[in-house]
Amino acid sequence: MTKYIFVTGGVISGIGKGITSAALGRLLIDRGFGVMVVKIDPYLNSDAGTMDPFQHGEVFVTGDGAETDLDLGNYERFLGIDLDSRSNFTTGSIYGEVLAKERKGDYLGETVQLIPHITDAIKQRIYQLGDEPDVDIVIIELGGTIGDFEMFPFAEAVRQMAMEQNRQNTMFIHVALIYTLPSGENKSKPIQHSIRKLQELGIQPDLLICRANRAISDGFRRKIGLLCGISSDCIIEGRDTKLVDEIPLRFEKQGFASQVVQRLELPDQPPGNSQWTEMVQVLRKPEGQVEIAIVGKYVKGTDAYLSVVEALKHGGIANRVAVKIHWVDSGSLETSNPEMLSDRDGYLEHIFNDIDGILVPGGFGVRGIEGMVAAVSHARRNKIPYLGLCLGMQCLVIEFARHVCGLMEANSSEFDPHTPDPVVALMEEQKGIEDKGGTMRLGHYPCQIRTGTKTHQSYQASEVLERHRHRYEFNNCYRDLFERNGLILSGLSPDNNLVEITEVADHPWMVGSQFHPEFQSKPLDPHPLFRTFIQKAWVQ
Ligand code: GLN
Repeated sequence: MTKYIFVTGGVISGIGKGITSAALGRLLIDRGFGVMVVKIDPYLNSDAGTMDPFQHGEVFVTGDGAETDLDLGNYERFLGIDLDSRSNFTTGSIYGEVLAKERKGDYLGETVQLIPHITDAIKQRIYQLGDEPDVDIVIIELGGTIGDFEMFPFAEAVRQMAMEQNRQNTMFIHVALIYTLPSGENKSKPIQHSIRKLQELGIQPDLLICRANRAISDGFRRKIGLLCGISSDCIIEGRDTKLVDEIPLRFEKQGFASQVVQRLELPDQPPGNSQWTEMVQVLRKPEGQVEIAIVGKYVKGTDAYLSVVEALKHGGIANRVAVKIHWVDSGSLETSNPEMLSDRDGYLEHIFNDIDGILVPGGFGVRGIEGMVAAVSHARRNKIPYLGLCLGMQCLVIEFARHVCGLMEANSSEFDPHTPDPVVALMEEQKGIEDKGGTMRLGHYPCQIRTGTKTHQSYQASEVLERHRHRYEFNNCYRDLFERNGLILSGLSPDNNLVEITEVADHPWMVGSQFHPEFQSKPLDPHPLFRTFIQKAWVQ
């Protein structure tokens, strides 16, 4: 019988339901269970693809090409599995599905309503995951905060699921905030109120994760337990930490997963988590530190590049070093900055002084592009290891065209539609597409790696599968010119039509990929390009 664990959040948004669900998933996998996860988002967008990364964080892409919430990245990294489009759905996609069925006449004259039609569609998506072979437990993260209007259909659907199943097959976990007064006293009232809201919806949580910045006492546990109807053993502390990877271990110490398996009447066994523990040990006691500059548009306090940051950390784990990230706003490297205008090289020197590696991540639109190209130029001339991801590869190509091949006005047609040398241009299959949602080249595509290249040394494989999200590509009309000038086309699509990876010949390690390797990197399985990038940055 498949078990269903519902995770809700209370008091504030961004409370850490995603990391909690992912960490619990890790502990259950380490006990030998087959775990599947799904994130439900209560907004009307069909998916996260059209959402501003500044507001909503990174758009994570699955192998089957779904543009999803960034929590899917957390799940993949913690659980060490690859998910697909079924693991994230939104209010918009549920309503879209129900309305399309209504137009087709599938409801045979019924009045189509929130209950049961919308709630049935929600339940069906969840049950479908639970029906998969090898899935023992499905963890369902309900996005949003309990009490929000938009949460209601989801809360109602999962309440119904709990009624449909035997008691030992479902459980509710609530993650809520403890407010600490400046005096240090922990206050439980916000948690009590959010649980009351849950109870109004017909849901009684079985286990509570208290997000807190101070330790919580046994007395405090007993008090909340009594007030909220939860056994004090099931009140778990979720202390703030900068090291998210140690959260599963902290939870394990408090008996979180044991409580869950007991409640679900599953056999408990000690977790086989030595690999994870060892990895956390490397993070806690690195043998050195590399300094990496990320040059992008969204550098202030956002999760816009979450998977990139995580993948760099994994590159560090593979080399047993810490990775310190220096955020560089690409706009500050443009001539609108007076310091860049008066002494360009001096300013770049100053910004990248003591930097061991430069990374330009993915992105869209012209803002900040010239700054990224300036950073690429600095990396190439000064032989600083460079990794370009999607847009970062396109910037590598533009810079190389301008300063090595002598095409001074080279650009991408995305940024300058009238450039005489569109070295990066709209892909053939993208021409004429008007809709923005779900229309890019998305998801897994194979890439063949040329032997004898640095890329091949890194991958140690002749063909790889990588995740994409782009509309523009390297313009094949310029292949010969680039190759003659020392740009190696080290990765190509199997039909030879698409340049997937480029590397600069006369450079210790300067690689750009048209895909996003960061989406596949995991702490227990760091991506080869990140592993090598950090290694080169470390030994430089
Ligand atoms: N804007 C570029 C394109 O669409 C790069 C996309 C990206 O970096 N994800 O091709």
